[in-house]
Amino acid sequence: MKTEILSMLRAADGYVSGQQICDRFHVSRTAVWKVIEQLKEEGYEIEAVRRRGYHLTGSPDVMSKAEIESRIETKWAGRNVFYYEETDSTNTRAKALGEEGAPHGTLAAADAQSAGKGRRGRGWESAPGKDIYMSILLKPQISPVQAPMLTLVMALSAVEAVKEETGLDAGIKWPNDLVINKKKICGILTEMSLEEEQISYVVIGVGINVNHDEFPEELAGRATSLKLESGKEWTRAKLVAQVMEKFEKNYEIFLKDGSLAGLKERYNGLLLNKEREVRVLDPKGEYTAFALGINEKGELLVEREDGRREAVFSGEVSVRGIYGYV
Ligand code: ATP
Repeated sequence: MKTEILSMLRAADGYVSGQQICDRFHVSRTAVWKVIEQLKEEGYEIEAVRRRGYHLTGSPDVMSKAEIESRIETKWAGRNVFYYEETDSTNTRAKALGEEGAPHGTLAAADAQSAGKGRRGRGWESAPGKDIYMSILLKPQISPVQAPMLTLVMALSAVEAVKEETGLDAGIKWPNDLVINKKKICGILTEMSLEEEQISYVVIGVGINVNHDEFPEELAGRATSLKLESGKEWTRAKLVAQVMEKFEKNYEIFLKDGSLAGLKERYNGLLLNKEREVRVLDPKGEYTAFALGINEKGELLVEREDGRREAVFSGEVSVRGIYGYV
């Protein structure tokens, strides 16, 4: 009921009477008052005026199950929300939910992570109260070799959401980092579970630096946040809902042919490495090449200095700009 009352207050342009809320949910005035008090404790600014009702005058950047749910408008992406004040890693939570049979589209989100994960065993700095840490559980009917493409589907969705929400000039560093002004604002980590060579579920984790003010020294040179770039604080739950909305649409395009064919053009349009020199950090040997863009499998097409063309697969490889991170 908290979620619905919050949605009702947000949708109203002014006051919502206590009676209206009582009638809608068939509860007493006292029950409504209690929910309003809880919302105030969570940080919402709600005016209560006799005979007029309740008016939501301010929603600071609250993260909670009700806040996220009240903003989600998708069919399945993020419809079933699990929220944690602090957890080890939302990917770990989403995987556990997958094991328990939670439905496709379930979202695990947290205010803080104690063991945030990056690719290849790296960590993800996950301070409390400022940023987005979330993982979506998917049950796609695709083969395991297609699963890494979902990382790119999420990168595209996240960058589209960030651009629409903030107007900031964000782009993608292949395959899955979001970058503003050559610094990283978002990382994505996809993990899957197989059963007899079939996918039982996929988890895509997304960490977005939203209202972060300061990074530890070792990251400061290549990490930034939406706040640092814009000078403004952003409402995390709103951005979570935007990412879910974009992802649901893009995922459905991806599923049509199980490839990035229908998304490639938009992805390449936002790819910062495109038509630039890159350093391909291939464990079999690093090299410099000219990046052309992705193909429908999500591989980065590059032209080496001797003219040979290669399709770089993301699993083992990172790319860097010639003079820096991008
Ligand atoms: P790269 O190509 O930069 O190596 P990656 O995709 O392999 O990126 P990720 O798994 O996305 O790496 O992210 C992990 C790395 O990101 C860490 O090793 C660290 O350098 C950096 N990092 C950790 N926390 C943050 C953060 N909150 N914001 C930006 N960067 C971070």
